[in-house]
Amino acid sequence: MIEREKIEKFYSCISGAKKVVLFGHVNPDGDSIGSLSGMYDFLANNGIEAERIVPGAYPGFLAFLDPEKKITVYNDEKEKALSAVKEADLMVCLDFNSFSRIDEIGEAASRSAAVKILIDHHLFPDKSFDLTISDTEVSSTCELVYIVIEELLKLYPAAPLSLAGETALYTGIMTDTNNFANSVRPDTFRIASLLMEHGVDKTAVQQFVFGGFSEERMRLMGYMLYENMRVVPELKASVMVLDKATKERFGFKTGDSEGFVNLGLNIAGVDVAALFTEDDNFLRVSLRSKGDFSVNSLAKEFFNGGGHKNASGGRVYMPVSEIAEYYFDAVRKYRHTI
Ligand code: 5GP
Ligand code: MN
Repeated sequence: MIEREKIEKFYSCISGAKKVVLFGHVNPDGDSIGSLSGMYDFLANNGIEAERIVPGAYPGFLAFLDPEKKITVYNDEKEKALSAVKEADLMVCLDFNSFSRIDEIGEAASRSAAVKILIDHHLFPDKSFDLTISDTEVSSTCELVYIVIEELLKLYPAAPLSLAGETALYTGIMTDTNNFANSVRPDTFRIASLLMEHGVDKTAVQQFVFGGFSEERMRLMGYMLYENMRVVPELKASVMVLDKATKERFGFKTGDSEGFVNLGLNIAGVDVAALFTEDDNFLRVSLRSKGDFSVNSLAKEFFNGGGHKNASGGRVYMPVSEIAEYYFDAVRKYRHTI
C-alpha cells in the first residue's frame, strides 16, 4: 500500500512539471521499457509531455512498446539525451534504485536541479530522491506504476491509461515474473486480470516476447544448454559463460540471451544459477536463485552488484576463462558463511 501523501506529492509533482524525463536502466528489459512506456502514456493522456531515456539499446522484441521509436537511447543520441536532461524540471527513475546505475547520463541527471522521483521495486533505494515510491514486495515496477496510477485516479479526476500504456505495463509484469512464475502475489494477478479485462491482448504480448526469436538465438540457447552449461551438484549451482567468440559464432544481438539464466535453475537440486556474458572490457553478471539463497548478497559481496533476493546482477573485471571457478568459489564461501 502506498501512503496517500506520496500519491498526493506525485500528483503535485507531475501537475507542476513542464519538461519531464523518464529514465530506464542499463540493458533495458520488459519491466524497464514497460514502466517507461506505461508512465509515458499516462502522462501524455494528461497533457504532460515526457522524454524517455535509456542508457543503451533495448532488445528488438520490445520494439512493439515503442512503435514510433521515440525512446532516446543515450549511447546513440548523447546530445539529444543531455539536452533533455538539461531542460527537465522533473525526472522519474523507473525500475532502478540509484542514478549511479545508469552510468554517464546518471551523472548529468544527478547534478540537475530538477525534482527527482523514484518508482522502483529493488532493495535499498538511494536516499537522495525528492519522492521515493519503493516496494520490494511487488512483482515488478510495472505493477507498482499501475498501483500508483490506480491510487491517483481515486483521488483526482485525471485521465486513465490507454490500451498502449496498459499493454506496456502488462508486458513488464509478465517478463519480470518470468511469465507469472516468480514473485507473483495475489495483487499481481488482480492487476493482470484487470489489464486483460481492459483489452490487453495477452496472446499478442506473449507472441512478441516469447515467439519472435531469431534462429540464431534458438541455436545459441541449444549450444549453451548442451555444451556450455556446467553443473556442480555438491554446490547446487550451475553456470553458463557466454564469451565473445560464442557471441560472434551465433550472430549475437542484444536480448538474445534473455531468460537463459533461468534455465540453469530448472535443474532438480540446483538453487543458484549464473550467466556471465563477456562485454567490451568487463563481464556482465546475471544471477538467479530459489528459496533462501540470496543472490543479492552474493552479487554484493563478489560481483559488484545487487538486485533482489532471487534475481540479481553485477559486473566483474577478470579474464572470462576464470569466471566459472570464481563463481563456484563464491558460492562455496556463501554456503559456508550463512
Ligand atoms: P538481470 O540478470 O536480469 O540483468 O538482472 C537481475 C536483477 O539484478 C535486476 O533486477 C537488475 O536491476 C539487478 N542488477 C543487474 N545488474 C546490476 C548491477 O550491476 N548492480 C545492481 N545493483 N543491480 C543489478
Ligand atoms: Mn523490474
